[in-house]
Amino acid sequence: MSDILIVGGGPAALNCAYHLAKKGKEVLVLEKHPYPAEKLCAGGVTLKDFKEGVPEEIVERSFASHTIHTPYGTTELKANTPIVFTIDRKELSRRLFERALKAGARVETAKVVKIKDNAVITEDGRRYDYHYLVGADGSRSLVRRHLKIPSKQIIVAWQTSVPSSLSKMEWFFDARLFGCGYGWIFPHEESTAVGFGFEGFYPINVHRAREGFLHWLKKTHGLTINTPFRAHPINADYRGHCFDHTYLIGDAGGFASGLTGEGIFFALASGRGLADMISSNNEETIKNVLSIKRRHDRSAIRTAGLLSLLPHPVSTIFIECLRKGMSVRYLFETIVRRYG
Ligand SMILES: Cc1cc2nc3c(=O)[nH]c(=O)nc-3n(C[C@H](O)[C@H](O)[C@H](O)COP(=O)(O)OP(=O)(O)OC[C@H]3O[C@@H](n4cnc5c(N)ncnc54)[C@H](O)[C@@H]3O)c2cc1C
Repeated sequence: MSDILIVGGGPAALNCAYHLAKKGKEVLVLEKHPYPAEKLCAGGVTLKDFKEGVPEEIVERSFASHTIHTPYGTTELKANTPIVFTIDRKELSRRLFERALKAGARVETAKVVKIKDNAVITEDGRRYDYHYLVGADGSRSLVRRHLKIPSKQIIVAWQTSVPSSLSKMEWFFDARLFGCGYGWIFPHEESTAVGFGFEGFYPINVHRAREGFLHWLKKTHGLTINTPFRAHPINADYRGHCFDHTYLIGDAGGFASGLTGEGIFFALASGRGLADMISSNNEETIKNVLSIKRRHDRSAIRTAGLLSLLPHPVSTIFIECLRKGMSVRYLFETIVRRYG
């Protein structure tokens, strides 16, 4: 019998397990992949991720300057110091895993296939009983489905990797291709993550978006992509985190930003927040995370609302700002200051 059983072993699970174990709680994590688990992710983080436990040593590249593209033009935005960073995502997984183990959490490799009568059943037929169950099993969460909670606000993200490190961090807004989503170029130490994402509820033609993105990469960067794109959902549909003796955190709980699809910070912070709740009855952390997430989501809803009224509003807004020069920087820095 486990006191607290966590399904999934991503950042949400491992941060939750670490903080619970540190407080002397008995906790078991079941992760279906052996560590360090691979996760499709661009590995972009901001300063708030470091405060939440992302080690600064795993930063691969730092960016004070960002290149913003729209179909109408390109602008370079410069801050005084780096505001966005790329990290080694696999190394993050390894560090969080080792830290949780060191604090006293147990971690086993097992895929949970069923939840019944205060127990989970794994693919190989093992049964684990629990007092408390935590769903930290990502956007396709089995625990969430067991609770019969739907996920409607989904961001669909497609990504591949270029085997060289490009020089700049770049963002590509084109409402005709991605609706209120965007394309990204996130350089790492020896490779570059290139991808695009969009709101699942927005009627996007994925084939057209991918072909348009590839065409743009070729035309503007001379890049020919030979590696396949992989897709993964990001769940931003938060509908509560506490359901009697069952809890949801990270993407399973829909904590990711509905504005950017950013989820590492929200996974780590909701994991710590739940640990504080269970171990000390302290709801402060989880309330703070939810307040940041709600600010992100309100903006996403506004942008999506605009998109349904105007043909290419994202481009239009940006080109308007481009013409005004300084205000683009102001707009971007305000966004990063407010949400970053
Ligand atoms: C293409 C893409 C790019 C992204 N880029 C960024 C970015 O630049 N910055 C950022 O902050 N966020 C980014 N994200 C989002 C971020 O990756 C996620 O929000 C974050 O990983 C969520 O952490 P988590 O612990 O909640 O879930 P996950 O990291 O998804 O971990 C869930 C874990 O549960 C395990 N699991 C699932 N089902 C079971 C089961 N039945 N039994 C046992 N184990 C199970 C999985 O193997 C997995 O290890 C991106 C996402 C995508 C798809």
